[in-house]
Amino acid sequence: MKIVIGHLFPDLLNLYGDRGNIQCMVQRLKWRGIDAQVKTFSIEEEINFNELDIVLLGGGSDREQMLVCNRLKEIKDQFKNYVEENGVVLAICGGYQLLGKYYETDQGKIEGLDIIDMYTVQEKGRLINNIFLKSELFDMPIVGFENHGGRTYINDNKPLGKVVFGKGNNGKSGYEGVVYKNVVGTYLHGPLLPKNPQLCDYLLKNALERKYGRENINLEPLPDTEEKEANKYIVDRYSDKIENFKEKIRKLI
Ligand code: GLN
Repeated sequence: MKIVIGHLFPDLLNLYGDRGNIQCMVQRLKWRGIDAQVKTFSIEEEINFNELDIVLLGGGSDREQMLVCNRLKEIKDQFKNYVEENGVVLAICGGYQLLGKYYETDQGKIEGLDIIDMYTVQEKGRLINNIFLKSELFDMPIVGFENHGGRTYINDNKPLGKVVFGKGNNGKSGYEGVVYKNVVGTYLHGPLLPKNPQLCDYLLKNALERKYGRENINLEPLPDTEEKEANKYIVDRYSDKIENFKEKIRKLI
């Protein structure tokens, strides 16, 4: 078995080491004896979505997003087909915003891929801090770091999780990220997957099942001792700051 991971425009979209998420996927596949190949695409290169199993679209500044936007127009249809055919995507921050209809900044409107019915508007102040969420997909909380000026409105789409600590999609809804088919969009940066092994395995499992059939996939659990410790560290650090934390988390779970 082999999974091919496409990293789109790492020269422009790679804030806070989003690339590390790819290394994490590769390693977790390797530990299970599954091959992985990483293909990086610069903005000039042709992308054949038929040969990809997972696509990573990382974060970027408004300026970089503006540069990527023209190229996205050219690959919009192919990208959309890939998603509709259950292709796996992890889109982070700037990349997440680009999955929607548009991102409106004070420097102009950046057109998105329009793959998911959602949009982003820049509002006053940036939402910066560590963040953790509770997602109904996993029993471990999802932890990470957010830093964005854009506020994302996901309409009737399913969020990735409920914000326990932090700001999330727009600082108002109480939700973070989006899940659409096999796409996960999130504002959580940096080593997202190393700290959230269940999210990583969710993406890998979806990609393997799509390629080889559900009945042929049994992703062996890994010990994840360090990963769980890293995750718990963030949760413990911020749970002290939340009033009635235990009660709140109980309600969320
Ligand atoms: N430029 C976008 C914003 O500020 C995304 C930033 C990012 O990817 N961290 O909202």
